[in-house]
Amino acid sequence: MTKNNIPSKLPRLIVFDLDDTLWKYEVDCTYGPPFKFDRKNKVVVDCKGNPVELFKDVLEIFALIQTFPGTQIAIASRTTTPDWAAQVLKLYTVNELGSLHSMCSAFEMYDQSKTKHFRRIHQKTHIDYKDMLFFDDNPMNLCVEPLGVSVVMLDYDGMTMEVFLKSLQLYAENR
Ligand SMILES: [Mg+2]
Repeated sequence: MTKNNIPSKLPRLIVFDLDDTLWKYEVDCTYGPPFKFDRKNKVVVDCKGNPVELFKDVLEIFALIQTFPGTQIAIASRTTTPDWAAQVLKLYTVNELGSLHSMCSAFEMYDQSKTKHFRRIHQKTHIDYKDMLFFDDNPMNLCVEPLGVSVVMLDYDGMTMEVFLKSLQLYAENR
């Protein structure tokens, strides 16, 4: 499957974990704010200049989702530093489309179970669990599958366009 061959049956909500899913490592293990965008290296850095590096396809994936009619994006992260995570999401931008943060319609960022995160997301968006596709790197978070959410477990490469497109295909086939 390619970007020109997107299935017609798409999830109404795509939910992303943050650490080791959208970016490498854990934002609460950095030295923290102020974060800033290093234009030369095109990466967000913490107060000591250490990078919070997005996996390479993430900006392209967020931009692609903006072309899907009726698909929203949400974040579910067990980070203990939600304000830091929000700062990083605001500093990564796609031309014309704004920041990753501005492209999301719901955020659940606190160290409690993803089941709780998803219940809150459902309450806020009124989207059925079966219409949600979730990407995460930690098998512990398969706990949301019994709700009816489609979960994709990522490996050490985090979010990639290849996995994203394949997951959309599988989602469409199973609906
Ligand atoms: Mg993670």
